[in-house]
Amino acid sequence: MQIIVIGGSIGGLSAGIALMQQGFDVEIYERAAKDMKDRGAGLVIQPEMMDYLMEHRIAPKDVFGVPARQRQILDENGAPVLRYPNDTQFTSWNYLWRQLKDFFPADRYFYGYELQSTEQHPHAVTATFSNGKKVTAELLIGADGYNSVVRGQIYPDVIPAYAGYVAYRGLIPEQELTLEEAAFFSDKFTLFPYENSHLLSYMVPGPDGELKKGKRLYNWVWYLNKTQAELEKLMIDKNGQERQFTVPAGWMNAESLTTLQQLADEQLPPILRDRVQQTAHPFVQVIFDLAVPKMYQDRIAIMGDAAFVVRPHTASGTAKAYRDAIVLANSLNDHEDIETALAYWNGQQTRYGMAIVNHGKQLAARSRLGLQMA
Ligand SMILES: Cc1cc2nc3c(=O)[nH]c(=O)nc-3n(C[C@H](O)[C@H](O)[C@H](O)COP(=O)(O)OP(=O)(O)OC[C@H]3O[C@@H](n4cnc5c(N)ncnc54)[C@H](O)[C@@H]3O)c2cc1C
Repeated sequence: MQIIVIGGSIGGLSAGIALMQQGFDVEIYERAAKDMKDRGAGLVIQPEMMDYLMEHRIAPKDVFGVPARQRQILDENGAPVLRYPNDTQFTSWNYLWRQLKDFFPADRYFYGYELQSTEQHPHAVTATFSNGKKVTAELLIGADGYNSVVRGQIYPDVIPAYAGYVAYRGLIPEQELTLEEAAFFSDKFTLFPYENSHLLSYMVPGPDGELKKGKRLYNWVWYLNKTQAELEKLMIDKNGQERQFTVPAGWMNAESLTTLQQLADEQLPPILRDRVQQTAHPFVQVIFDLAVPKMYQDRIAIMGDAAFVVRPHTASGTAKAYRDAIVLANSLNDHEDIETALAYWNGQQTRYGMAIVNHGKQLAARSRLGLQMA
């Protein structure tokens, strides 16, 4: 069976690899013109995904991520009031993407293919790209993220809904911390919860996957409620262009950068305030919700963030995309016809997707994030 995947990020590559391993003829079409390295920040790597990567020799465990052996909760002065064992493993988006990308055959991964539209025929689907090329396959998988063009073709009314808060994020090379600061954060998942907000931080691999102390990156995430009016100001980038879901590193406008520094002065303990203020290029990620009623229509399937966007507190956006991919590949392998395989997959994964979406909302509500929008 010939299958094309639209989008070559974590979800698309997971689908490509899982389908290839089941013997399907699969190709990935990615909008970006070249490697997407250096564009992401940190993320939690779930044990289930790590097991898969090791089992299939995509990445060995010892080079995979940075463990945080302790969780520490800070008070308003930055003193740890609680420390307890933790077994979360952190990695960087770049590093995870690199491992998957290197494993998937390069001659089946096409850069510079931005999907414009799809056309369904009996038992086939044709994708038309903005470079003028057309590709026809028996199944098309939309792994093209929260702003999915594939989803737009079958669910034009399902669009992301603002959740009422944003995440400011930043990365700092570990060598820019003093030895004391590095030791304070090293091997720890640090949390500063306070009224209607929290900041968390952890170490992730360096730009080229470095795991040695001193070579890693310090990653922080700070959630803050924003009214619609505040959000609109924040989303204007330094060139005056309106951004939709993120303001990437290096693109925040001067006023928003000043506001961030002031908020850090007013709300954070010194050890975290200094990290926020020290970050050369902080960035903004808008938190929103999205869920499709069904993950396929005829010969088109949608997965990962294209189908369900989960709140970051669940730490499962990547694992969900990977699980959508594995269950789909197994289902296509286990069933005689595509329709039954997609129906089975949809039954499994929509329940799973909705459960994580709802869990994420509960976690946010517990931290009093986004409540002013309710
Ligand atoms: C560059 C980048 C950096 C990221 N960094 C982080 C991070 O640090 N931490 C974190 O938790 N999550 C990060 N994410 C999001 C994370 O990958 C997803 O939340 C999750 O893994 C689900 O992935 P996905 O593949 O479904 O969607 P996404 O990761 O959003 O990938 C969608 C892919 O589709 C491509 N695409 C979009 N439209 C089209 C089109 N019309 N035609 C062809 N291709 C298209 C995009 O270029 C992208 O590669 C990042 C995503 C990207 C793309």
